Amino acid sequence: MGSSKVHKDDLMDHNGIFSADTLTARFPEPDSIPSDACWILVKDAGVYITAGPVPTIFVSGPPEAHARSGLLIQYLGHHEDIPCYAAGIAEPARAPEGMEYAGVRELFGKIPDGELAIASFAARMILFDRNTRFCGRCGAPTRQLRTERAKLCSDCNLITYPRISPAIIVLVQNGDRILLARSPRFPPGQYSVIAGFVESGENIEHAVRREVREETGVEITNIRYSGSEPWPFPDSLMIGFTADYAGGEIRIDNNEIVSADWFDRDHLPLLPSKMSISRALIDQWIARDSPR
Ligand SMILES: [Zn+2]
Repeated sequence: MGSSKVHKDDLMDHNGIFSADTLTARFPEPDSIPSDACWILVKDAGVYITAGPVPTIFVSGPPEAHARSGLLIQYLGHHEDIPCYAAGIAEPARAPEGMEYAGVRELFGKIPDGELAIASFAARMILFDRNTRFCGRCGAPTRQLRTERAKLCSDCNLITYPRISPAIIVLVQNGDRILLARSPRFPPGQYSVIAGFVESGENIEHAVRREVREETGVEITNIRYSGSEPWPFPDSLMIGFTADYAGGEIRIDNNEIVSADWFDRDHLPLLPSKMSISRALIDQWIARDSPR
């Protein structure tokens, strides 16, 4: 068994809840929107879903039928050979007929994971559209490129891509215990693994060591990749790792963390939702180390 290879068994069983891999982007995108396109109606950080026992995010027919004004439109890719578009609805007077609004987080468990990924991607692309209507360098209006997912400035030709913010998340093991910490943002009693954004000019391994050291005072070694996924709140890419304790006493950074401790599997605190990659890392550790 080569130590440098990542084995499937070492990766999280969390097949990218937010990874929209059922969409295939075909560029250049169509010049005009085909009449058989499917639509996802986005407002703020959520989408409209059909009401009823089996809700879906997919709507057929042009979005003008569902919303009256202020449409932003983004091509998402083909889903089962059907081109999919997101329509950003600025100000609907009320929900489109037969539909109800749901924030992306509320959709977990309500619709299939594949649709959840597309819904979050749609919301993300409408946010991209809204945030890049003008050039960040010269202020002139931009236009959507058809050849790739980007905006082109009409004056200075600056190309702007959707923002992706890499962040690390790491489960630190110390014998049969793991390091969990509490952010002041968490619900009462909830703990999670250490996470934080990669900073400009550092590599990912450095970010992993730095975040653990800054937040808890602990040194780590043997950092192993565990999987990744887009985390659409609003534009992170979470890169997951497992690492081993190498030294240091827990000494928390009181800004980002209010409490941190070592927990064994019989005394785990309240954990994050199954939707999260942090929970996937913890569940993977429980499954791996449990007696079979
Ligand atoms: Zn410009």
